[in-house]
Amino acid sequence: MNIGIVGLGLIGGSLALDLRHQHTIFGVSRRPETCEQAIARQIVDHASSDLALMAKADVVFLCTPLGAIESTVMQLLPHLSSNTILTDVGSVKGSVVEAIAPHWQNFVGGHPMAGTAESGLDAALTGLFVNRPYVLTPINSTPAKAVETVAELVRSLQAQVYHCSPEAHDRAVAWISHLPVMVSASLIATCLSESSAEVLALAQSIASSGFRDTSRVGGGNPELGRMMAEYNQDELVRSLHAYRHQLDQVITQIEQSDWNSVQQLLTQTQTARPQFLSDSEKE
Ligand code: NAP
Repeated sequence: MNIGIVGLGLIGGSLALDLRHQHTIFGVSRRPETCEQAIARQIVDHASSDLALMAKADVVFLCTPLGAIESTVMQLLPHLSSNTILTDVGSVKGSVVEAIAPHWQNFVGGHPMAGTAESGLDAALTGLFVNRPYVLTPINSTPAKAVETVAELVRSLQAQVYHCSPEAHDRAVAWISHLPVMVSASLIATCLSESSAEVLALAQSIASSGFRDTSRVGGGNPELGRMMAEYNQDELVRSLHAYRHQLDQVITQIEQSDWNSVQQLLTQTQTARPQFLSDSEKE
């Protein structure tokens, strides 16, 4: 198959690396340097900054930042044949599907649940999607054949395919992806509010695995975090309010020296955590 990838960064480059074993890859990226690098490193077979290159593609993966997906699609559509299947990898699905589906029937919303704190083509990795969930969000008007074609490509990455509505996706990722980014960022920002420079320096020196784990997603790509907030605003605000309510409860329990309730909460969360982890992460 001829596979088109628009946006040769972490996700687009990683898709290209894995799909290139079985398909011919046509890559489009904004900067000519990125296109040259993608060719030189044999990440893609053909590359250009011109979306006309996508005319040859059977399936196009849209891998630009969220804010560029809609405008990119509008510029891309005149170059495509009506059979071309479009799919995106954006971290939010409701607004993307709403913007594209009315203009292109063969569009399947998608979101690979994989990534790193890095960005750009240099960050692209082989095997990034292996054993990771990859969510597809078809709607009633999405042709079954288009969904199955994208699902088959996703399975070839050794990812696990999930199907749900764009709305359910956005609500679920608010809990497990977007809320954690804001909580983790707030954790780092709160530590910085320490008024003693000496204590802050000490905390920074002795921070260990607990802080590393809980601060990781708050120390990631700021543009990506901003896009999550901007494009999944309602669901993120809902989850943040619920989180604040939970924090208020813990504060009250600790202020009142209600140690049984604190232990009860931690017992409950210790039991619940594995339900959010894959088998390999539980080990
Ligand atoms: P990224 O590493 O910054 O890659 C995006 C690439 O797109 C940039 O390197 C840029 O390449 C290119 N680009 C930017 N604007 C463009 C435009 N208008 N037209 C064509 N290319 C353009 O970002 P990413 O982390 O791969 O994220 C890409 C998408 O994946 C986002 O929609 C995000 O929501 C989604 N996603 C990210 C993760 C994650 O953890 N990072 C996980 C799942 C899904 P040049 O400027 O170098 O040409």
